[in-house]
Amino acid sequence: MRFLDREGLGSLLARLVAEGYELIGPTVRDGTIVLDRIEAVDDLPAGVGEVEGPGTYRLVRRDDRRVFGFAHGPDAGKRFLFPSSEVLGTIGRRNGHLTAPPAEAGAEGRRAFVGLRPCDLHAIEVQDRVFRGGPEPDAAYAARRDGAFVIGVNCTAPGGTCFCDSMGTGPVCTVGFDVALTELDHGFLATAGTARGGDLLEEAGSREATPGEAAEGHRLLANARVHMGRSLDTSDLPGLLYRNRRHPRWADVAERCLACGNCTSVCPTCFCHDVVDDVDLAGETATRVREWASCFSVEFSHTAGMEVRTSREARYRQWLTHKFASWIDQFGTSGCVGCGRCITWCPVGIDVTEEVAAIRADDGAVALEVGA
Ligand code: SF4
Ligand code: SF4
Repeated sequence: MRFLDREGLGSLLARLVAEGYELIGPTVRDGTIVLDRIEAVDDLPAGVGEVEGPGTYRLVRRDDRRVFGFAHGPDAGKRFLFPSSEVLGTIGRRNGHLTAPPAEAGAEGRRAFVGLRPCDLHAIEVQDRVFRGGPEPDAAYAARRDGAFVIGVNCTAPGGTCFCDSMGTGPVCTVGFDVALTELDHGFLATAGTARGGDLLEEAGSREATPGEAAEGHRLLANARVHMGRSLDTSDLPGLLYRNRRHPRWADVAERCLACGNCTSVCPTCFCHDVVDDVDLAGETATRVREWASCFSVEFSHTAGMEVRTSREARYRQWLTHKFASWIDQFGTSGCVGCGRCITWCPVGIDVTEEVAAIRADDGAVALEVGA
């Protein structure tokens, strides 16, 4: 294991910039820590922590200068790899001829993501299965993924809504990183996930970590597991949810749910999208755009001339059951990585862990009743 001091992290980021990478990292904006373009290590949120709960998020001042002393804001890497709106193609009419210039796949250039969390890395793996796991990979998505350099950060300060430990996705980075860091008071423990990551750690002046530093890292991560804000019993989740599709809890949650779609926007694994065609008034240009969609909207289930999920009860059940059950049938993995964002950013504080626990609490009784 390597050790990198704060200046070393600065050197590593400067090298990435010199190689032409755009840095995307956490920074404070509008009272929130968002992922955005940063220039250097000084743009990271030093000494800033956060308090998260159902429907609650606020920043707090920490009594140290740690730059990753928080769990996460509303962003994962999703909106950079799978933008909320993306032009798929344009057709123009000039002098009676139609022209269709090829779409510029991944034209944004190479990006280095700084400070993605273990749950975010797992979420990217989930989206990889969707966008480039099939016979027709999405070229623009694949170009953005191939151009990405990823610096993951192990979580030492999990949020009040996190449950990655239950989902097996955190708090330690295990997949999808070039370099993974654990922040200590005086610098960072660093692990290379790729040869390029190892080379950059060397070039940035890292040294072998001392046994004391390694032990401190282990202590912080063990402590993070104990202080996870939420937990979820994941045993036989697909069976539980399929058995209980008529459970009264669905009607109960529908009374509270506003069908606003916040949860699907902040969820790092949600991939549903719509394709919209737009023709200008002169009839000269037609544009096809892919836009994020949400299973909480009525029109999402428009099929053969009608909507098939008209009630909020049906839409919430669809969302939660897809995440924890049918996603596994489709992609061989859970659609939830336990980041807790849907709990934090739900305006009425609906908590997926509570909803699943409520269904599990009287699983046998309701399933029997329905089957009777
Ligand atoms: S369902 Fe909620 S907790 Fe799970 S990955 Fe999506 S936002 Fe995170
Ligand atoms: S569960 Fe919360 S965030 Fe999701 S649609 Fe309902 S009210 Fe909005």
